[in-house]
Amino acid sequence: MKLDGLKVVAVGMARSGIAAVRLLQRQGALVRAVDEKATGEVLGITIEPQTESAFQDADLVVISPGVPANLDLLNNTRARGVRVIGELELAAPFLKGKTMGITGSNGKTTTTALTGHILREAAIACQVGGNIGTPPTALVETSRDDQWNVLELSSFQLETIETFRADVAACLNVTPDHLDRHYTLEKYAAAKGRLFETQQAGDSAVLNADDPICAAYAKLTPAKVQWFSLERPVSPGAWLENGEIRLNGEVLMNAKDIPLRGRHNIENAMAASVAAQLAGASLPRIAAAIRKFPGVEHRLELVREIDGVEYYNDSKATNVDATLKAIGAFEGGLWIILGGKDKNSDYTVLREPLRRKARAALLIGAAAGKIADHLGSGAVPVMQCGNLAAAVQKAFRSAEPGDTVLLAPACSSFDQFENFEQRGRIFKELVNALADGAR
Ligand code: ADP
Repeated sequence: MKLDGLKVVAVGMARSGIAAVRLLQRQGALVRAVDEKATGEVLGITIEPQTESAFQDADLVVISPGVPANLDLLNNTRARGVRVIGELELAAPFLKGKTMGITGSNGKTTTTALTGHILREAAIACQVGGNIGTPPTALVETSRDDQWNVLELSSFQLETIETFRADVAACLNVTPDHLDRHYTLEKYAAAKGRLFETQQAGDSAVLNADDPICAAYAKLTPAKVQWFSLERPVSPGAWLENGEIRLNGEVLMNAKDIPLRGRHNIENAMAASVAAQLAGASLPRIAAAIRKFPGVEHRLELVREIDGVEYYNDSKATNVDATLKAIGAFEGGLWIILGGKDKNSDYTVLREPLRRKARAALLIGAAAGKIADHLGSGAVPVMQCGNLAAAVQKAFRSAEPGDTVLLAPACSSFDQFENFEQRGRIFKELVNALADGAR
């Protein structure tokens, strides 16, 4: 893509938009920066309001992942024959080296971080980014021909790709999420499916054989498919059998040696193993790296134990499916903190697992009323706590040795917090402030 002298409008001036502006400027484009809210300057240019006039003479528009691709303003621009692309598409022609794209509704960050960790431990050069930290456009400068780009990719980044192509593309699962922006599960699944559609023969796709939507991507992609499954042997690929992970026929490791809780993390480890093997990592190196993986903050993270009660921070459980997985990772005795900003979710599916495993549901935030309605009476005692501090106090006073206090809210955080990271950090501060034995 030749950008020199091209008039480009970059939309959305948060971290990824700013990185896009930097790449565009380096490539000689004449850049205008627009934002719905932000004002001021970015990299020497004034941020303009997001109005028609800013787009009038554009040759190309680059949108940030946070900007819906179907805004009227963008549709009008497309109608004039102007290309509207995302950061991934912008970065693609400039990224050196091979690329691994990892997507899914849940598990992307864990699997991307784990894959990067395995490659590093196996002495295979890589850089990790995308949705996880460094935006793809910011990886361009440090990319090298002999290095893998391991990218966590969200549906928002994928829905607009045209030529971006992953040498190895993986999808963990597709469950309802972000339906506020994609409207239907079909459209959401199609957005993720772009990752597989743009692949070519000779590339590899890594797919969850147990997830029907995910498995259907096999029909979309010209790439060679490797599978992973918790349920049954698959070929080629990885599966769980008698507690052991097998990778293309050989025993990789005992699943018990994965230092992350829950069966969903066995899936993440299998997907990462298949991807790492495709990049050239050997089985012993893969297994050794997984055993040493420290995990990712806010994902079923053990905060501490107080008086025989363990406190887990799974603030990243921002949807119902992630919460179901979190509940599934424990035997019982749960004091679960649920609530936050509702994403049009159905919480009734939590009733049965909570009835089996939870001592109580401690509800916080804007969705508390709806969650209480959906849980109904009789499944689990419901306690309205209002905020996180009150919920932690309530759990601290009520939990018995052997119990677990779990923040896995099934909601986004934006009603009471800046983001899930802040919610998780505050939870950890609250837990750490509880004095041992001071009940
Ligand atoms: P993402 O980046 O896709 O949001 P994360 O690795 O950050 O994924 O995990 C998000 C949440 O989903 C966490 O609460 C985690 O416990 C849960 N989770 C992780 N992996 C999976 C998986 N394979 N299936 C379902 N839930 C998962």
